[in-house]
Amino acid sequence: MINVTKTFLPPIEEYHNHLQRAWDNQWLTNRGELVLELEAKLKNYLSVPNIIATNNGTIPLQIALKLLGNGGEIITTPFSYVATTAAIVWENCTPVFVDIHPEYLTIDETKIEEAITPKTTAILATHVFGNPCNVAAVEVIAKKYNLKVIYDAAHAFGVTYNGKSIFEYGDISTCSFHATKLFHTGEGGAMFTNDSDLQHKMFYSHNFGHKDQLQFYGLGINGKISELQAAMGLSVFPFIDFIIDERKKIVNYYNQNLNFSKLKGLKLRKDVEWNYSYFPVIFESENKLLRVQKKMNENEIFPRRYFYPSLNTLPYLEKVKMEISEEISVKILCLPLYVGLSEVDLNKIVELINENI
Ligand SMILES: *Cc1c(COP(=O)(O)O)cnc(C)c1O
Repeated sequence: MINVTKTFLPPIEEYHNHLQRAWDNQWLTNRGELVLELEAKLKNYLSVPNIIATNNGTIPLQIALKLLGNGGEIITTPFSYVATTAAIVWENCTPVFVDIHPEYLTIDETKIEEAITPKTTAILATHVFGNPCNVAAVEVIAKKYNLKVIYDAAHAFGVTYNGKSIFEYGDISTCSFHATKLFHTGEGGAMFTNDSDLQHKMFYSHNFGHKDQLQFYGLGINGKISELQAAMGLSVFPFIDFIIDERKKIVNYYNQNLNFSKLKGLKLRKDVEWNYSYFPVIFESENKLLRVQKKMNENEIFPRRYFYPSLNTLPYLEKVKMEISEEISVKILCLPLYVGLSEVDLNKIVELINENI
């Protein structure tokens, strides 16, 4: 069976060696030695000034919205994983959708201004599939209207844009280390900021608000990553460049062999150093997508409809129309992409697509 992704599992001995340290320390959580080491390694690898590792990639979105959203209207993208919108609603803010760019698939910055009202407090946009938003334009708008900017960079591990880490853009940037993501800790995530005041608030927010055992800086939640998760992260860490290289080969194969006269790929922004995190293709129609998906499923190949449905159509939201996002979301399919996907299987996938479009 071929799925859209397959979790990269490091040699179990490596994992065991790191777990042994947790056993020796008799220390399983509350920012032990393994978590601190993982943060230090990631900070160095990503060239970022700060990192706070977390228990998943959703809690950092909630913490960011708690600190910056202030219960207001949050301008956001309809084309992302459901966590982006759900975090807004969960934090008692109101999502205000702005449609996406038809080729980059990120929020259409030219439509943001018309969505701003006196209640708008922040913009939460996704670097979808690791493709950066137009961060320069978003920053200009945010400054003009005094809005905060949060980037859901769950897909963007290792991406650099204009020569610096994608995580350095916006007031707060978040990432996911879920098992399906490029770098993973089983469950896990991280949050980033360049602002020292925010860094302090994010840090205590992810640890119940503790100042010390008896005193509190403010409201907090449990966003802590455990030593067990850090053990997985430390075991995967030495393989990051290998993982990205292997994925690059697969992406190149798709790019060279798929029939792009009848398909569209993701258009990457200029000046991005991408991470090969996803391989979405956009069909000419939903029918063609369904036909290809059926053929693939019959062959035990299971691509995924990322992202469907368009998030503005979620059942707990008021109905609004997002023309481009709704159109793309019915026609887009993410193809299998993971370390170990064989050339035979790749060939089969390409054949099934080219024959059925
Ligand atoms: C995976 C993902 C999340 C959530 O991350 P978890 O670690 O699963 O909580 C948030 N946003 C996007 C865009 C994602 O793909």
